[in-house]
Amino acid sequence: MKIYDTLSLTLKELEGNNGKKLKMFVCGPTVYDKPHLGHAKTNIFFDVLAKFLRFKGFRVFYLMNVTDIDDKIISRANEEGRGWNDVVNTYSSSFFEIMKRLRVDSINYYAFATDYINEIIDQISRLQHKGLAYETNDGVYFSVRGFSDYGKLSHQSIDSLISGARISINENKKDPLDFALWKKRKPGEPYWDSPWGQGRPGWHIEDTAITESIFGPQYDIHGGGADLIFPHHESEIAQMEGVSGKVPMVNYWIHTGHLNVENVKMSKSLKNFVSPEDLLKRFWPEAIRIYLLSMQYRNPANYSEKGLIDGQIIAEKISLLKHRVKKYEPSVSDNSIQIINNIISPLENDMNTQEALVLINDFLKESLSIRDKSDKINGEINYVLNTIDEIFGIVHDAPLPDGAVDLILSARNEARKKGDFGTADEIRKKLGELGIRIEDSTEGSFLWW
Ligand SMILES: [Zn+2]
Repeated sequence: MKIYDTLSLTLKELEGNNGKKLKMFVCGPTVYDKPHLGHAKTNIFFDVLAKFLRFKGFRVFYLMNVTDIDDKIISRANEEGRGWNDVVNTYSSSFFEIMKRLRVDSINYYAFATDYINEIIDQISRLQHKGLAYETNDGVYFSVRGFSDYGKLSHQSIDSLISGARISINENKKDPLDFALWKKRKPGEPYWDSPWGQGRPGWHIEDTAITESIFGPQYDIHGGGADLIFPHHESEIAQMEGVSGKVPMVNYWIHTGHLNVENVKMSKSLKNFVSPEDLLKRFWPEAIRIYLLSMQYRNPANYSEKGLIDGQIIAEKISLLKHRVKKYEPSVSDNSIQIINNIISPLENDMNTQEALVLINDFLKESLSIRDKSDKINGEINYVLNTIDEIFGIVHDAPLPDGAVDLILSARNEARKKGDFGTADEIRKKLGELGIRIEDSTEGSFLWW
């Protein structure tokens, strides 16, 4: 398959190493607040990428960091009058909970930055020995002028980055673009011991310390939102390639476009965000996934309520179809494999989930329109739906035991047979309040939820 690489600005053939192994790292949350829908867009995209690569037979190790020490966490702790680790516990738990509800479950390991303080200190020390880092009154800085490739990911020269950057002037730094690897302790801040006295790590160094200790100095895929290209990912390259001398640090740089609200980037600081937590009260997780996957992942997209409603309609159609076929043994046949290959073919071309969803919709229309299908065809549809769910995570199939479904339906059918439509309607209404709907069709009554 081909995937767009930000470093080479080209579509590259995605290949693994030794027996189709792929090491993938994606920048995780800074846990000072709940995630917004823009974060969910990135996380759901990389979830589907990991699932698709695994479906194709790659052995993907998907690693994500959690930034659990940062200026924003410290100021949130001060605002709320509690310890920084309390803030970290609250918001990392809520991040994991929301990801679980959004069915983002492909990540093998979450690495918390403060569990890697020794590795961070070790990497900074090696940078210092190589002459790429220097100590000042308030910290240790990376010397950007010492790394001639600085700017290669964002495709800008160091000089144009300096003139374009809004970087606060810090008289301790040799160059305005130099960034903190270690920040010396200020009163009231959390700290760790280091060769430079007590303090805490900078932001960029945590990722390369984590990936170096888990993956080594070189690995396959690094992902994140496009807003992280500069300075975050640019600085990661400088640190890792600078310290190891091994180039490239990663083979594929994959970035997702922002989610905007009326053409302005959704962000916590602008307070124009929509939270997945609120949306999950009104929409199925699968509807949110369909909505976010209906966008081309690299392009910026605008938030739209209508898009979510459309996502819910598709999710409900999928659920209805699943309910109709779930009792048939999933059947692998030439036909079902052909349908699946057709649906996933756009993913081979730079993860075109938008086009794949159009094909899923065609499959739904056709499958829902055929009446009196043979057991074999129902089994094939069931198999296709299982595969769609394995890759996209969009088949809503809450585990109500089949026996319970039959019991409810037969009680309602008995009432209807006796002409007791009041009771039948009451059952429908009560179930509706629980999010379960009854569909009466020529093929009989179905429950779906
Ligand atoms: Zn990062």
